[in-house]
Amino acid sequence: MIIDLNIQNNKNIPNLLYDACIVGAGAAGITIANELGASGLNVALIEAGSTDFTDESQDVYKGKITGDPYIPLDITRLRYLGGSTNHWGGMCRTFEKIDFDRDYLGEEYRWPIKYNEIYNYLEKACEILEIANDFEYLDSNLNNVKPIKYQTSSVRFKEKYQSRLSNSPNITLFINSNLQDIKGNNEEIKTIEVQSYTNNLLTIRAKKFVLAMGGIENSRYLLWFKKKHGGKYFDPTTPIGKYWMEHPIFTLGRAFVKNSVYVKQFYSIKEKPQKINNILGCSFRMHGASSSETKQMLKNLICVAPNFGKKIAKLLNKRIICGIKFRGSWEQSPAKTSYVSLLNESDRFGISKVNLTWSKNALDRKTIKKSIKVFNEWFLKDNIGRIKLDEWLINDLDYPKNDELGGQHHMGGTRMSNNRKYGVIDKNCKVFGSKNLYIAGSSIYVTGGYQNPTLGIVQFSLRLSDHLKSMLV
Ligand SMILES: Cc1cc2nc3c(=O)[nH]c(=O)nc-3n(C[C@H](O)[C@H](O)[C@H](O)COP(=O)(O)OP(=O)(O)OC[C@H]3O[C@@H](n4cnc5c(N)ncnc54)[C@H](O)[C@@H]3O)c2cc1C
Repeated sequence: MIIDLNIQNNKNIPNLLYDACIVGAGAAGITIANELGASGLNVALIEAGSTDFTDESQDVYKGKITGDPYIPLDITRLRYLGGSTNHWGGMCRTFEKIDFDRDYLGEEYRWPIKYNEIYNYLEKACEILEIANDFEYLDSNLNNVKPIKYQTSSVRFKEKYQSRLSNSPNITLFINSNLQDIKGNNEEIKTIEVQSYTNNLLTIRAKKFVLAMGGIENSRYLLWFKKKHGGKYFDPTTPIGKYWMEHPIFTLGRAFVKNSVYVKQFYSIKEKPQKINNILGCSFRMHGASSSETKQMLKNLICVAPNFGKKIAKLLNKRIICGIKFRGSWEQSPAKTSYVSLLNESDRFGISKVNLTWSKNALDRKTIKKSIKVFNEWFLKDNIGRIKLDEWLINDLDYPKNDELGGQHHMGGTRMSNNRKYGVIDKNCKVFGSKNLYIAGSSIYVTGGYQNPTLGIVQFSLRLSDHLKSMLV
């Protein structure tokens, strides 16, 4: 059933006690609602937006950016049924074993769970995203570099699930329903309050509550509830909003490479050189350069090395080599200096607007520089080509401002840990100091890997669903 709170209000909506109330109907929220609903549990799924894009909902996503340049916060996410999967690229790759084994970098990198606990959900997550569970090339041996496989999902959660949610006997989807407040006794939430754009109010009762509002809003709302209620419902001393992460994405240089076999292929750096160099994960991609870009590269080369340039020109003419743009997307270190906070200004519902301070640090720079070195060693050894790095990397200048900047992957802020000093939720995704409040989505990530986050979001959502079922069914 779908209930539109813009039209209906408290008086004509039955006052049920739901088994679970999930706030946010994106990839995370819809996955959990489907899982619980399929087990016969009674679920309220709360969505701030409508079934389609509306300005009034999207406007609430406006916020401020401080720190490193970033994409405006009302552009980098979508606030309606299906969430950001309405405009995602669908590129999927799962976590790797080393992602849960970063202790060599310190306690802040320690996951409270092992890789297998999330790997167990990979097959089912691939089914939901309608992709093959096939991410490795088994026959490659490129020393310290490995070619990596992505799968592309064409699933948009709204398109795939809207009618199923509407027909589900166990799930009630409330649209145009903005989370406003939580109420209950000490450490236990009994009800949440939601409000529509027409100012209809609704109280929803449930046994368990899950915030699945995306990688910025999960932090924003915990910060807001902490501001409003102090330590009444959860531990307010944990690092809420801190350790926010992205995947920096930049053009790193240009290259002439042997032939187009290598173009459009993704590569990463193997575990051993990551550990030896004390760095994080990184992926590289070579994009074919346009003919005008290639001509410019050749001109630049001829200026500094005329004879070598002429040799290259001949090989280019014969299409034995080609010009490429060398791009990188890499894992950012979790650090307190990158964080979500609240502004003094409020949104239309009286909730503090969000401020995002994205900040890349020395380890982020070291990760990309050392990874390039490892990659280049393979390039030279196998005589694949020659890379000319861009000036900002050679001379340690600021990151370019006119590039992609980041993958629009919002991670961290409500991270998992065994230690309240470093995390906001425990290994079962329950907020520290709460009896019944859980978090879903990539805000729970301790480290983000180099890979796109949504396949992992679905895996973690399936795992949380199993945990909730173990208590509710
Ligand atoms: C342009 C772009 C391209 C991307 N490409 C890829 C890609 O190729 N591969 C990949 O893995 N990832 C990609 N991503 C990231 C991916 O879209 C997200 O990781 C994923 O959609 C997050 O899902 P989620 O359910 O955690 O959060 P969201 O999708 O943000 O869903 C949160 C939901 O909560 C609702 N909500 C928010 N506030 C409230 C409130 N107060 N009350 C009630 N409901 C609320 C929102 O309306 C939304 O429906 C891309 C993102 C962008 C922007």
